[in-house]
Amino acid sequence: MKNIYSNIFKFNKKNLSKCIKYLQKSDLVALPTETVYGLAGNAYSKKSILKIYKIKKRPRINPLIIHYSNYKNALRDVEINQNFTKLYNKFCPGPITFILKKKKNSLVLPSATAKLNTIAVRFPSNYKIRQILKKLTFPLAMPSANISSKISPVDAKDVFEEFGKKIKMIVDGGRSKIGVESTVLDLTKNISILRPGSISAKQIKKIVKKKITIVRDQKNIKSPGALKKHYSPGIKMLLNQNKSFYNHAFIVFGRKYKKSKNIFNLSSKNNLNEAAKNLYKIFRKIKKLRYKKIYVVSIPNKGIGIAINDRLKKAAN
Ligand code: AMP
Ligand code: MG
Repeated sequence: MKNIYSNIFKFNKKNLSKCIKYLQKSDLVALPTETVYGLAGNAYSKKSILKIYKIKKRPRINPLIIHYSNYKNALRDVEINQNFTKLYNKFCPGPITFILKKKKNSLVLPSATAKLNTIAVRFPSNYKIRQILKKLTFPLAMPSANISSKISPVDAKDVFEEFGKKIKMIVDGGRSKIGVESTVLDLTKNISILRPGSISAKQIKKIVKKKITIVRDQKNIKSPGALKKHYSPGIKMLLNQNKSFYNHAFIVFGRKYKKSKNIFNLSSKNNLNEAAKNLYKIFRKIKKLRYKKIYVVSIPNKGIGIAINDRLKKAAN
């Protein structure tokens, strides 16, 4: 039988060099990270950046996160500061993105950062993508590997569902450990969280010992990527419900829910980390089952639950 997933590749030595070659030629590849899968291209290549926006149907005003193996490589492109150094030492490599001032002679293309004078930088911890980043002479521009505003992928087959054979290579890294996108932090002035993630405001505050602003509605601030609708299965979704109807999908959290065809439990163990990991998988499942409406119970708004609620709110918009 023919393997329909012929562009999904195991991570081994041979495929690693194949992947590097694609990136050097300005082709795109999909890569695993600890948060979600990314669609990666050379951040210094016009051709790569164009391809990313085109294949994702991403609005050009939504800047890309640039990924490096370590802060020394990022110094080529951004000005760092004390807050950055403290947070980098504590959380990196890991699921956190920093907005920093772009250097005048930065090689990151204006088209990759929506012509802003800032760059969002991240240092992912996933072993496979680290091996790739270490071998490259350029950083990777890498948004999530999904069509713009749709559900982020958490395994190689999810990426295949989004793009099929339109990308030459999807590196299989199994299921993403965290399952929701990185915390995005603006460090260019007073520290603010532009997008909540698994690293919480509380954890950040403990390190920098300063007030952290949480930006609830990104549209008034400088991140043009503040699109209200996002992470969406494209189905009507009602939040904070305590019951549902048998013909609607019901997303629940916790021990008290019985098993039933239309009930999708984010974590029957009451574990918010497990809930985050399952969130996008459950969205995809419900979509495939063609439900017309989704009811969602209220999710505890603490720790990574804050990120889950942020995604649910945007998905329901
Ligand atoms: P995604 O590519 O889907 O993970 O989304 C990246 C997020 O980072 C979006 O919300 C962007 O708006 C935000 N972002 C990327 N670069 C910048 C920047 N230079 N300034 C502010 N926000 C940014
Ligand atoms: Mg995305």
